[in-house]
Amino acid sequence: MISVRCPHCNVGLKVDEKKLPSGITTFKCPKCKRPIPVSMLSQKEGEGISSSDSDTVLLHPIKKGIGQITVLPDAETTGQIFPLTEGVSIIGRKSSKPFLATIGIETADRSMSREHIRIEVKKDSKGGYIHCLSDNNSKNYTLYNSNYLGVGEEVILNNNDEIIIGRTVLRFNE
Ligand SMILES: [Zn+2]
Repeated sequence: MISVRCPHCNVGLKVDEKKLPSGITTFKCPKCKRPIPVSMLSQKEGEGISSSDSDTVLLHPIKKGIGQITVLPDAETTGQIFPLTEGVSIIGRKSSKPFLATIGIETADRSMSREHIRIEVKKDSKGGYIHCLSDNNSKNYTLYNSNYLGVGEEVILNNNDEIIIGRTVLRFNE
């Protein structure tokens, strides 16, 4: 266990570093929900926090939810929420023509392909979920946090990431 103080809300935390998923750079403060850099855990044990600190909370292992995609409303699209499921979801513009998308977004945005992006939800070894996003050979490409995804490029989604398909903005939440 490592003692650390949240840099945002100043709550004292005792973190079991062995329970944190490997490869993460931040974990969520259980009190204020803001990200605490994992690098802060390299602090020496016991530094700064007394064991009688009444704010001390035990951090449970991070378990990412299976996640959902929120479509932000604009002039062409109403707000919509789609829960993700384990496995591959193909997301695009809902159409009366036959299409392979498992999530169809109701929109007048014609620059969104009918099978625009692919999100694969996989279980990780720690019992949580990993969400992999890639462009599904769309005509107008996909912006992920303001960067175009390359052909065949796959990124791992984090809470609140922004995905733009056509002119429509989607938000990923765990
Ligand atoms: Zn906090």
